[in-house]
Amino acid sequence: MRIEYDEKLDFRDVLIRPKRSVLKSRSEVSLEREFKFRHSKVTWSGVPIIAANMDHTGTFEMAKALAEHNLLTALDKFIPIDKWKTFIKDEPVALSHCFVSVGIGDTDFARLDDIMKITNIPYICLDVANGYTERFVSCLEHLREKYPDTVIMAGNVVTGEMVEELVLSGADIVKIGIGPGSVCTTREKTGVGYPQLSAIIECADAAHGLGGQVCADGGCVTPGDVAKAFAAGADFVMLGGMFAGHDECLGEVIEMNGRKMKRFYGMSSAEAMERHHGTVADYRASEGRSVNVPYRGPVKNTVLDILGGIRSTCTYVGAHRLKELSKRTTFIRVARQLNEVFVPYDVDKK
Ligand code: 5GP
Repeated sequence: MRIEYDEKLDFRDVLIRPKRSVLKSRSEVSLEREFKFRHSKVTWSGVPIIAANMDHTGTFEMAKALAEHNLLTALDKFIPIDKWKTFIKDEPVALSHCFVSVGIGDTDFARLDDIMKITNIPYICLDVANGYTERFVSCLEHLREKYPDTVIMAGNVVTGEMVEELVLSGADIVKIGIGPGSVCTTREKTGVGYPQLSAIIECADAAHGLGGQVCADGGCVTPGDVAKAFAAGADFVMLGGMFAGHDECLGEVIEMNGRKMKRFYGMSSAEAMERHHGTVADYRASEGRSVNVPYRGPVKNTVLDILGGIRSTCTYVGAHRLKELSKRTTFIRVARQLNEVFVPYDVDKK
């Protein structure tokens, strides 16, 4: 056994120091980025924020709404193939802003093949909770061989050496985050995890050294957190909880004590496992929770709120483009309050 004593940080442990700036208004800031990916050689440009591939947020309705702002959606991997067919036919623009998600089971690959046969969807998200297994790496190699021209995002991991292995094995983008998610209980159930801000800083450095990209996945609860993730070096940021509770999310609006709510659950929660597999297998514990989140109307308001926040961050540090934010950032370490209480983020009601 070994103990690492280096301090590791989360979003709430830091603030961004303001810097002299010649920007007059946040409207001068561009949040679009352009990447040419290492393996697929695809050139992509857009706003690098991705809705998480959870049942609740990774929906076609979300993809349509986010595509209007040039954001991306990782579609939930349980969407039936006939719904895919309709979406492919009716929504070519939204489709071009989507990742198809896949796990590492045999049925996952068969399903991916079925989807890839009916559309040339340009982005694959190879997604498992634990990206440290040999099987995961061999699945990534297999996918890369089979789809040489498709952008592959793979994860999740939290350490530089594993990011390097995944980039060298075929990932264009490596997804970073173990345990930070808003409905994740991995840290409580297993004791495993890594503070997300430090994970992003260390993993971005490793990926960029090899010409790869990283996507920070999980733990953002405010637009300021999304800005901190980009400032730490994330090329993309994936959001679950911040996009939850909207019209475009799966599930009905429910009334609870006079408040409108929507159901949101982790993809490893008992609720998700029962929904998709009929039961929680005896050998595993659920690593996700189910919550009711306030109903928040159309996602457009939240998107504008997040993008407005990041533009303002860029103005504070003098970054004309999102690309410059990381280079212009100095994080200030702030003391944590002992009695800190978590307050979920909600867009101001206008
Ligand atoms: P959020 O933005 O809500 O903080 O985090 C979203 C991310 O949490 C997802 O993209 C996914 O990586 C992770 N996640 C979703 N469901 C679960 C779950 O049930 N358990 C764990 N450990 N992580 C989850």
